Amino acid sequence: MAFTVKLYENNSYIKTFDAAVLSCEEKDGAYLVTLDKTAFFPEGGGQNADRGKIENVNVLDVQIKDGIVYHLLQKPLTVGDTVKGEIDWDIRFSRMQNHTGEHIVSGVIHKLFGYNNVGFHMNDRFITLDTDGPLTEENIAKIESEVNKTVFANKKINVIYPKPNELANYDYRSKLDITENVRLVEIEDTDLCACCAPHVAYTGEVGIVKIISFIPYKKGTRIEMVAGFSALNDYSMLHNTNKQAVNLLSTKREEIFNSIQKIHKDLGDMKAENKRISCELALLKTETFSLGRGVCAFTENVGYDELRYCSNSLIKENEYCCAFSKTENDRFIYVVASENRNIKDIVSFLNSTFNGRGGGKDFYAQGTVNATKEEIVNKLLERASI
Ligand SMILES: [Zn+2]
Repeated sequence: MAFTVKLYENNSYIKTFDAAVLSCEEKDGAYLVTLDKTAFFPEGGGQNADRGKIENVNVLDVQIKDGIVYHLLQKPLTVGDTVKGEIDWDIRFSRMQNHTGEHIVSGVIHKLFGYNNVGFHMNDRFITLDTDGPLTEENIAKIESEVNKTVFANKKINVIYPKPNELANYDYRSKLDITENVRLVEIEDTDLCACCAPHVAYTGEVGIVKIISFIPYKKGTRIEMVAGFSALNDYSMLHNTNKQAVNLLSTKREEIFNSIQKIHKDLGDMKAENKRISCELALLKTETFSLGRGVCAFTENVGYDELRYCSNSLIKENEYCCAFSKTENDRFIYVVASENRNIKDIVSFLNSTFNGRGGGKDFYAQGTVNATKEEIVNKLLERASI
């Protein structure tokens, strides 16, 4: 079968085209169609397959194999017919912006730091690219600034097909061990890279590039970025979120961080105050039983923090304290504490007598036991009297 003529390779702006149907075969309920020529870009170079219609039939996927482009369609087409193809231009153009933006970012990183792009992934919201060297916050700011200067300078983007014997004269990124049909995408004064995908013709069409995050990845950096309409969508999303937060907090949009920081601090203060009050309340509600030199204390429905607070208060006047909080029937959490008496023997006694679990250090331990209040008091009294 003849190679498909790839209209997108030399003109990435073709939105509609006429072509002859060369073959149509059913595959899993859909139809694989080949044409004599196509403007549909098949998945490749990190970019997804184009969407659109052929003779008003939805194109579900586009793949290339051995130079032939296969269009996966919902309905069959008649071999020999001339058909009209229509690319979903909004999606394609947005991808061209993102993809070209990625070339500019990779080119600027290569120029400024000598790093290579070693990974590239693109979805319809953002692009991920990996470098083989580390980058700092300052580096990223410099890269973003240089990239956008290149965008605003509206540099020409050229596609070059060097002859195999000329290839050695070109210093380009993404070099593979092939010499036939190498397609180079040149961004004037910025980048030269082997790539099969469609790009915009001038950098100005990229609109803007924003790096939204960067993290150390393997020995380099993973960057997430947006360009063009994706950047506009990202800005709109952030703007809407900011607007809602501004309204909710009755603040100014540039003040939002300060307002949230204040709420965060107030909330922390309130939690601390709330904890202090619940500890005080637990102590007030605590019922105590003297164990001679020690004391045991009971309360209900409080956590370890409150028990610890009660114990710390009670050990000021007692050698040790065993504090219990009932969490459910015949089940208690406990804290055992002392200022200077090693309490490990008491913890072992509680765990072994009441099927308990828990432990800690010489002067503090916590855990759970399964018993009734009476059982606990009686056994501890019995033990203390020995
Ligand atoms: Zn590319």
